[in-house]
Amino acid sequence: MNRITACLFLLMIVSPLYAPERQPIIDMHLHAYPVGHFWPPGAPNPATGVPSPETDNELFRQTQEAMDRHNIVLAVTSGYPYEVVLDWTNKDPERIIPSPYVGGSRGYWPDIDSLRQFHQNGELGVIGELGLQYQGLTLSSPEAEPYLALAEELDVPVGVHVSPSPPGATYGCCPDFRAAHANPLLIEEALARHPDLRVYIMHAGYPFIDETIALLHAHPQVHADLAVINWVIPRDEFHYYLKRLVQAGFHDRLMFGSDQMFWPETIETGIQSIKTADFLPIEQKRDIFYNNAARFLRLSDEEIAKHHNH
Ligand SMILES: [Zn+2]
Repeated sequence: MNRITACLFLLMIVSPLYAPERQPIIDMHLHAYPVGHFWPPGAPNPATGVPSPETDNELFRQTQEAMDRHNIVLAVTSGYPYEVVLDWTNKDPERIIPSPYVGGSRGYWPDIDSLRQFHQNGELGVIGELGLQYQGLTLSSPEAEPYLALAEELDVPVGVHVSPSPPGATYGCCPDFRAAHANPLLIEEALARHPDLRVYIMHAGYPFIDETIALLHAHPQVHADLAVINWVIPRDEFHYYLKRLVQAGFHDRLMFGSDQMFWPETIETGIQSIKTADFLPIEQKRDIFYNNAARFLRLSDEEIAKHHNH
């Protein structure tokens, strides 16, 4: 072996040890809906005007491609009909954590026995998004009780929508929708009744910053995702909100989420919103992108090692 060959050989052996690790990301808030649900096919992204994909296959393909590109290794995925969520799960079982959406029109909520069956089949890993606010309810409403009891029984996390909605929801889809129900402190009675519940508030309670800080302070088990506010509101406003949560001491309870519904590019926008937060040290970004969710979801050491070698 001459000297050059020897050098190349050595380089091949040691280079993987020095290759920068690709940051794994957990998306705690993805949706799988049929195209045409809520918005017509091709509807523009409310933040950018980019049209949505026109078919279910294209929506899935582009979403999967965005997740591949950004090393999203797990995605809590909710939607309805639940068949769509299960279809995505079958197509990408290593990554998709299926989760029922609860909060459509009353009378169309998933029944408890079928959810228990889905869990037995390995087809339910989280319960939520609980979109109770769209029906004029909160997590503390009696209507939520059977789902909270089930989550406690099965020991699965619960994700509850607490915060924004498409403007004008009260006059369109959801006459009972009230912005006042997004006050995060309204979930306290449910927490008191179910102290062992693993709960995360979706959208980090935006824009109720003081109430969200009060909630996180009083209830150490509660986590929060940063979904939708990381792409739908102005970035400066998102950074202001994120900075308040971090300087209040809660960086280790915040989790990345995209709330990708019909516009796969929102995954990248959401990730960039955190990467460009100059006030966050790299370790806190890693916690928000992966470590906090890994702990919240109780991933095994083996799963975590696998994600870091992805
Ligand atoms: Zn939501």
